[in-house]
Amino acid sequence: MNNYRGRFAPSPTGPLHFGSLVAAVGSYLDARANGGEWLLRIEDLDRSRARQEAADAIQRTLEAFAFEWDGEVVIQSRRLDHYHAALTCLQRDGEAYPCACSRREIAACAPALAVDGGLVYPGSCRAGLAAGRAPRAWRMRVPDREIAFDDRVQGPVQQNLARAVGDFILLRADGQYAYQLAVVVDDATQGVNAVVRGVDLLESTARQIWLQQRLALPTPTYAHLPVVTNAAGEKLSKQTRAAAVDAAGGSAVLAAALHFLGHPVPQEVCSGPLHDFWRWAIAAWSMARVPVQRGVFPG
Ligand code: GLU
Repeated sequence: MNNYRGRFAPSPTGPLHFGSLVAAVGSYLDARANGGEWLLRIEDLDRSRARQEAADAIQRTLEAFAFEWDGEVVIQSRRLDHYHAALTCLQRDGEAYPCACSRREIAACAPALAVDGGLVYPGSCRAGLAAGRAPRAWRMRVPDREIAFDDRVQGPVQQNLARAVGDFILLRADGQYAYQLAVVVDDATQGVNAVVRGVDLLESTARQIWLQQRLALPTPTYAHLPVVTNAAGEKLSKQTRAAAVDAAGGSAVLAAALHFLGHPVPQEVCSGPLHDFWRWAIAAWSMARVPVQRGVFPG
């Protein structure tokens, strides 16, 4: 691909764990193997969970593993005006509408379960707010048809947003912009044309493509990597108390992440300097070798 531009976009809710290291390694190698750029973006919009110390720790760990990102680190909490501008466009075009429903009111309609574990929004405020109701949040109108894309790892994917999630949140009742809006705005502003991330975000992709279409933004290519689970089958995350990766482990830790992505690493590279690891890994990288299925964390 010409002018490949990829990125790694961690949420700083805790230190870098093995699962996020896998996403970092996969996105980095795919960018470098394609002669492309790799950007770093800190997704700290969730005020109740994001921590400055975690953002610093993630950045230090990436540096210690000798990842090299291009340009300045982008911090989402400093870009609220961009999200505001995008929301204003969607409001003006009638794509976004105000919603007065509380979680309890939505649950009381007994709607279907959404793909993300929440509830499919039943569309109560779609045709306008009932008299006397105050807007709490803003939602995106979604179409009742399949949105399809070709994932570089998972193959053809399609999702009907009306059935899978319903009209989704753009601005929450607490004034926080939703991840779906911020990620679309940032990927476009940063010129990202290749997204490589964990398969746990596969079900967000149709929402992001729909937003790109309504905002007249280009759609990047997508590659959703297998995610690491613990012995209980849960994705490694801060919630499941995944351990921080230790950069002192050097090439051997990176090699474990790369092995997980279908690239066994020769012993001398595992025990050699970081610089040699990256040189070997960039030459060896092939998205075609990345397994589709999820794997269990070997520890
Ligand atoms: N911030 C998201 C996460 O850490 C990743 C977003 C993305 O790659 O699109 O799960």
